Amino acid sequence: MTSFREAAAAIRGPLEFALRGEAAAARVHDLVPTLRSALEAAAALWIPPEAKKRLGEACERLGPELDLAGIAALAKRLAPLLAPEFSTRMLEAPASRVPGVGPKTAQALARKEIATVEDLLFFLPRAYEDRRAIVPIDKLEVGRSACFAGTVTRSGVVPLRNGRRFFEAIVSDGTAAVQLKWFRGLPHFENRLAPGTRVLVAGEVRRFRFAKELHHPDVETLSAETDPGELPRIVPVYSGVEGLAPRSVRRMVESAVRCAADLVDGWLPEATVAELGLAEIGAALREVHLPGTQLDPSALRERSTPYHLRLVAEELYLLQLGLELRKSALAKRRTAPLAIDDAAEANARAALPFALTADQQRAWAEIRAELARPTPMNRMLIGDVGTGKTVLAVLAAAAAHAAKRTTAVLAPTELLAEQHLHTFSRLGGALGMRTALLTGATPASERRQIARWLSDGSLSIVVGTHALFSDSVELPRLGLAVIDEQHRFGVGQRRALTQKADSPHLLAMSATPIPRSLALTVFGDLEHSVLRERPRGRAPVATRVVGPSAGREVMSALNDTLARGELAFVVYPLVEESEKQDLKDATRGFERLCKALPGVPAALIHGRMDAHDRLRAMADFAAGRVRVLVATTVIEVGVDVPDATLLIVQHAERFGLAQLHQLRGRVGRGERPGRALLIADPTTPEGAQRLAILERSESGFDIAEEDLRIRGAGEWLGTRQAGHLPELRLADLVRHGDTLEAVRRAAARLLASDPGLRARPGLLAAVERRWGARLAFGSIA
Ligand code: ADP
Ligand code: MG
Repeated sequence: MTSFREAAAAIRGPLEFALRGEAAAARVHDLVPTLRSALEAAAALWIPPEAKKRLGEACERLGPELDLAGIAALAKRLAPLLAPEFSTRMLEAPASRVPGVGPKTAQALARKEIATVEDLLFFLPRAYEDRRAIVPIDKLEVGRSACFAGTVTRSGVVPLRNGRRFFEAIVSDGTAAVQLKWFRGLPHFENRLAPGTRVLVAGEVRRFRFAKELHHPDVETLSAETDPGELPRIVPVYSGVEGLAPRSVRRMVESAVRCAADLVDGWLPEATVAELGLAEIGAALREVHLPGTQLDPSALRERSTPYHLRLVAEELYLLQLGLELRKSALAKRRTAPLAIDDAAEANARAALPFALTADQQRAWAEIRAELARPTPMNRMLIGDVGTGKTVLAVLAAAAAHAAKRTTAVLAPTELLAEQHLHTFSRLGGALGMRTALLTGATPASERRQIARWLSDGSLSIVVGTHALFSDSVELPRLGLAVIDEQHRFGVGQRRALTQKADSPHLLAMSATPIPRSLALTVFGDLEHSVLRERPRGRAPVATRVVGPSAGREVMSALNDTLARGELAFVVYPLVEESEKQDLKDATRGFERLCKALPGVPAALIHGRMDAHDRLRAMADFAAGRVRVLVATTVIEVGVDVPDATLLIVQHAERFGLAQLHQLRGRVGRGERPGRALLIADPTTPEGAQRLAILERSESGFDIAEEDLRIRGAGEWLGTRQAGHLPELRLADLVRHGDTLEAVRRAAARLLASDPGLRARPGLLAAVERRWGARLAFGSIA
């Protein structure tokens, strides 16, 4: 395949040579025919119509001979096509330029943020399917993925008793028949899979009673003549684009690759490409999208082919450059220093009801030093539940107070905001600081009062929820923004708060540990303090994972706990997609529990109920008037009930590990040890393995690390916690750790010689495109 780049070089070469002088021109005696064939070859490639026209005209103008003036004129006319920017412009052209992408499909792609030719090229497969072997249907094995061909013998919509419906198609190949089922997108299949249609099917085979079936398999309809053996053999799988069949997505990407893969320039320095032995980038794009059969499917799946590694390295290079650029931009910002002198600081610490732990002392020294600088602090404070993060925020607020500045404390829930109001009023009050609460529920008159205090400086701390960053709230003296449970907020929300003032200092707190192996990258430009020890040296929460049939064991644990006069939580999952069903589950569970424990006061709380009722139920539980609290995950943060010692989690397999770890932090907060029973029905061995970590380890860091090992960094980076980094398409910070290291060095070398990438505007633009607004703002906010 000739690329436009090569074709352009074939034109440029003889032109440049000839331009060096009369004598040289004379020596290229074949100049005209050489140029003509080069121009024709270039015009035949995939380039915009204007460019084709220009090349054609140049061809026509070539007379039998060319003098120096003629060569110069030709070179001038062709210059825009021969410049490197030309390929950049082609890559930035709308995706609809690619043959086979119509305006409608372009719209569908745009919804997936695929706008340009380049976007389409970099829409990389999320998986591969090995279709080299087509299996007879009677040889399909349950639990394995397979590919087979056959004819639809029967199909249609099947109603279920619960009112739902699914689409079913029976496919037979003469050896046996198998059922295909779809529970979504029914009408789409009705039209496509009429009886008699020949299909190629790929997917995982499951067992249903005594038969085999596939759910949502990938189906390609075959024309009567196609020999399934001729179809592409290792097939890339792209994430779904709404409104487009997987097959057409594949075709469009393939078309883009054939036209434009060779236009892409890598950014990595040649030395790094050589050092890592990476593939050429055009070849990388081709092989990643259209893998040759020689490639090992497992290497493809693990993204460890040399072709993948080239793209991985390019991606990581832009990531590292962005991190470094942002770091130096942040270092240039200015803000009011929040210094607290030694005497005031000693006073503040003496006013606390306890001495700081060693970890807290270290973190406080870091925070204090950074607040005293004229550069805004941008620090993450990470510590497991109960490690005592709040008191550090109180001390930081004292530093702001000493500098006559306000502190805003942002909490994700009203419950937590109220608890903070309490803590900050108590601890801060002893230091002469006044604290107020501002939430969506704060009446207008109170808001006006708070606004007055905020403007005259008589309010040191304002604690609140999302209401804090609404437009109507002004924070004229904001010196410090504290964001608790920072991963619960989107980047935009965090930013909205810090924009209430000119670059305030920022302290973000999180109980979700960042795994050690990610810390270097995730914190490339972010300062962080870590709290590991717990002040009260709590006993670990004894955790056991049990199956759904362990009802008796769970009940006896509950009875024992209640008999000792202690309290229990029962937690149900609640996710948006299945919210109604989840709520029903929790309600039914609550009713069953009430029947099983007659006379035991119990309450149910969930996010949908009135905040007032919820708070009252919580208060009743905290006071022991309610002994069993059934809840959806609203209790995850900010609940401190020392008498609660038993946590029961229903459907534990539906929770994230970090979330479960946070949940169990809710028990055993007092004198007596806590216990957690996770009732789970994991569908895969991997799921069971994941949960077992909680039985073994009590350290949030270990849990995060282990979770990461099992699931890869991709999922972790998909969380809001990592919202300050651009999404990675291919690279996995753990799996590609070695590449990351090499690339980090390359980025540092480049920036040492060209600090703002001023000499490389193209590269700078690429970094900016990849990072978007994240590059311009602070790394947490
Ligand atoms: P988290 O890190 O989960 O936000 P908190 O700040 O809520 O933890 O602290 C948990 C509990 O530990 C609180 O009751 C707090 O008063 C207490 N605490 C914090 N620091 C210390 C300390 N140095 N000594 C004793 N108790 C402490
Ligand atoms: Mg906290």
